[in-house]
Amino acid sequence: MITPTTRISTHDLDRLKSIVGEEYVYSDAAARAIYSRTVNPLEFKRFQMGDYSHAPDAIVQPASIQEIQQILAYANQTGTPLVPYGGGSGIAEGTSLGGSLIIDLKRFDQVRVNSTNRTVTAGAGVIGRHLEEILNQQGFTCGHFPQSMNSATIGGYVATAAIGTFSGRYGKMEDILVGLEAVLPNGEILHVKPIPRRSVGPHLEGLMIGSEGAFGIVTQATLKIFPLPEKRQWLCCTFAGTPAGLQAIRHLIQEDVRPALVRLYDEAEAAARIKKFGLPHNHALLFLAFEGPAGLVAWQAARAGEILAENGATFQAVDVALDWYHYRFDTSGMLRFNQKPGSVGDSLEIAAPWEDIETLWRTARAALEPLSQAVHVHFSHIYDNECSAYVIFYADSGPNTPQAGSELYQQCLKATMEACLAAGGTISHHHGVGRTKSAWMKMEHGEGGWDLLVELKHALDPNHILNPGALGIEK
Ligand SMILES: Cc1cc2nc3c(=O)[nH]c(=O)nc-3n(C[C@H](O)[C@H](O)[C@H](O)COP(=O)(O)OP(=O)(O)OC[C@H]3O[C@@H](n4cnc5c(N)ncnc54)[C@H](O)[C@@H]3O)c2cc1C
Repeated sequence: MITPTTRISTHDLDRLKSIVGEEYVYSDAAARAIYSRTVNPLEFKRFQMGDYSHAPDAIVQPASIQEIQQILAYANQTGTPLVPYGGGSGIAEGTSLGGSLIIDLKRFDQVRVNSTNRTVTAGAGVIGRHLEEILNQQGFTCGHFPQSMNSATIGGYVATAAIGTFSGRYGKMEDILVGLEAVLPNGEILHVKPIPRRSVGPHLEGLMIGSEGAFGIVTQATLKIFPLPEKRQWLCCTFAGTPAGLQAIRHLIQEDVRPALVRLYDEAEAAARIKKFGLPHNHALLFLAFEGPAGLVAWQAARAGEILAENGATFQAVDVALDWYHYRFDTSGMLRFNQKPGSVGDSLEIAAPWEDIETLWRTARAALEPLSQAVHVHFSHIYDNECSAYVIFYADSGPNTPQAGSELYQQCLKATMEACLAAGGTISHHHGVGRTKSAWMKMEHGEGGWDLLVELKHALDPNHILNPGALGIEK
């Protein structure tokens, strides 16, 4: 059970209240329970076990940089771990740290559109969906549509190096980001001017992209914006097998066709849609979307059709793609599966160069199949040189307790991470590391890269107050 009273002293709570105002400090059991987890299955299993050991001691919601600086001063003086929090849609246990002070950025909610520069400057706490609504009203889009955009924030996007489903046209967070403001652990302000290209030393915004709250508190970001697309066109086809589908999408991108959206489902993940739409059984399924100026879309779709046909595609009606688009934010299936105490399911997003991607697919499957009821894989972000894979598993521990579910999750995770590294892949393409994948960070980066990352953390945050343990970096 969660303890009804916080461990933070009344004196300290009063100090925090004097900084942000009484109504913006929460230390009651309900608030601490809510902030004790995001969307990671292990956090959910702890919740089911009534284990609140990862609950914060209090939550504070500042509204200005000065307030953040005072909170940082408090944390540095008292050694209180401070965890930045956006929308809580993270899936890597990035914010669940027992005894911490959560710093929730949602009051950083201002939005300024600059139609001349084609940029928007948004506070870290702006929810992705709200930003998009504001932009759409003015004829623009940010083009960043993660499946979690109804709850994820701009600060969270930057801190996790996020990616949206239409990344092929608009880019990933590091492509869309043109400037930012962050408060460093010592209270100094990092202001990266909104100029997308420069040659003035290492790119300091890189310290924040994917930093997961461990290197600084992002307070605002300036992002590219684009005119709303004139046209969107879908293409849908099946392949006799996943390797043929992989070859086809590699040819597409390497022959300069740039779909906004790519979704290639392997035979197992395609099966339910294939059944629903009466497509050929035991086939891989691909759908693509092109969007932008009508002429460009028409050329891209026509050229894509030629390349896909040369690579063995059988074209299908686009209803299956439209069906995905309609239900694209629905994750209820996975949530329901995880609600059963002994069951665990998750999507692990990994990536590898093209020459390793088929091996990655085969070895991740082979590692997970003995542990799971079902393994589904789809490929949805492609580059000239590499491809990412979502490996989705549904595993049931039998004994039907959250403890057993939790242990099974660890086995599935370990099997996938090891298979991924052995196949030359990266352990996270965009969900981040948090605490879930921290054990594999050294192998991911190699000795030199890992030591550098740890040194950077020590230099920036000598007291280790900002999200200690995130990214696997301990004091
Ligand atoms: C159903 C579902 C679908 C998803 N789909 C996608 C997807 O398509 N693409 C994708 O990239 N991700 C996806 N995610 C993962 C998640 O939504 C992203 O990682 C998102 O960017 C997290 O944003 P958030 O505001 O919710 O961050 P939080 O969950 O609040 O925090 C995540 C991490 O970022 C840090 N952080 C948050 N805000 C700040 C800040 N202002 N300054 C410094 N650090 C900060 C936290 O400390 C933590 O380490 C999905 C998640 C779910 C549950």
